[in-house]
Amino acid sequence: MNFSLSDEQRALQQTARAFAQKELAPLAAKLEADNAPLPHDMVRKMASMGFLGINIPEELGGLGLSNLDALIVLEELAKVSSAVAFPCFEANVGPVHAIRHFAPDALKQRIVPSVCRGEMILAVSMSEPNAGTALTDLTTRGVIDGDRVTINGTKRWCSGGGHSDAYLVYTRLSDVTGAKGVGAVLIEKGTDGLSFGEPETLMGFRGVPSADIYLDNVKVPVGNIVVPAGGFAKLMEAFDLERCGNATMALAQASGALEDALIYVQERQQFGKPLVDFQAVQLKLAEMQMEVEAARLLIWRAAVNADRGLPSILDSSTAKCFANQIARNVTGNAVQMMGGYGYSAAYPMERRMRDAWGWGIAGGAIDIQKVNIASAMVGRRFDQRR
Ligand SMILES: Cc1cc2nc3c(=O)[nH]c(=O)nc-3n(C[C@H](O)[C@H](O)[C@H](O)COP(=O)(O)OP(=O)(O)OC[C@H]3O[C@@H](n4cnc5c(N)ncnc54)[C@H](O)[C@@H]3O)c2cc1C
Repeated sequence: MNFSLSDEQRALQQTARAFAQKELAPLAAKLEADNAPLPHDMVRKMASMGFLGINIPEELGGLGLSNLDALIVLEELAKVSSAVAFPCFEANVGPVHAIRHFAPDALKQRIVPSVCRGEMILAVSMSEPNAGTALTDLTTRGVIDGDRVTINGTKRWCSGGGHSDAYLVYTRLSDVTGAKGVGAVLIEKGTDGLSFGEPETLMGFRGVPSADIYLDNVKVPVGNIVVPAGGFAKLMEAFDLERCGNATMALAQASGALEDALIYVQERQQFGKPLVDFQAVQLKLAEMQMEVEAARLLIWRAAVNADRGLPSILDSSTAKCFANQIARNVTGNAVQMMGGYGYSAAYPMERRMRDAWGWGIAGGAIDIQKVNIASAMVGRRFDQRR
């Protein structure tokens, strides 16, 4: 067992950090104020660094590195903000992996390299107005007729909704009820019948566009079926990696907050001495450090245990659940430590606290991760309906 990064991984981390600080940090406050996504030229720049296909095989346009490498880069970018890191999140742990692993070859060859080049941003659209945690209650329906699928339904809370170039839409693809009837299709921007609700205003996640998606007799070729009915387990398998990405985004809110708070408490003086000289502050700092380190180790373990494959549900749910929880604590403590400056929207700390909360709902709420963990511990599924 080796807890150190390799020389190459440390160099990659440094490169990502330098890029994030030089190129992304100057944009973060404006994206937050305008609730605007990262501009396209910066997405391309990220692609030119290889950061939009770190863990994608070279033959599909990626760097061919590991999931751990991707998560190391993602954390450095997301320490700046969720919004600036979001394209990297979607491209390295998002729906592109369901396409890479399970889509027909022609679709894979058309989509995955474009994502790596920064020409195509993908989003995942699972949730519906009446299907959140109970995802398999989804009612969006695709009917296959010859070489076309016609899809009708309403999707909710899609991060990237209205902005992305294509959507991996979870939909029923047969009359079989429950999970067994669910599959997923790729629907591209501009397809007739695809429209969006008003851009949403969330508590955090500013700069990550979000909207309802309306599917009104949307027709796509059958070649756009990424996973047919009966493949829900495959979608969830790919989602185990997204969970590690979600955990990393949460972790980064915490680790970024800790880095800034550490500087602040050594500079800010009260009662004639730096804040860090007060023991109460020292104890808080130590707690924050322990939580951040433990979350990072759980995430990295999930990635390393899976090598280049997809992490297990136990490892990924444990990492996500813990990172989601500590991110709320650590960012809350960091806001408190910085007093009025922590609470002011003129500084990044309160944004991190708001974003941290969202990561514990997105991708499956904290409590359902605990159900996943208990379920894996005893080796059976707990039916939530009975
Ligand atoms: C910032 C953000 C980004 C998102 N991005 C996307 C996206 O890109 N694509 C997408 O498809 N969806 C996205 N979502 C939706 C997200 O996946 C859902 O919000 C989440 O799965 C919870 O579903 P719900 O909101 O319907 O809450 P509900 O399912 O109604 O649950 C509400 C609460 O009840 C509790 N609960 C429910 N069921 C159980 C249970 N069985 N056991 C224990 N507790 C339970 C949980 O505490 C939960 O938080 C996003 C959400 C947020 C907040």
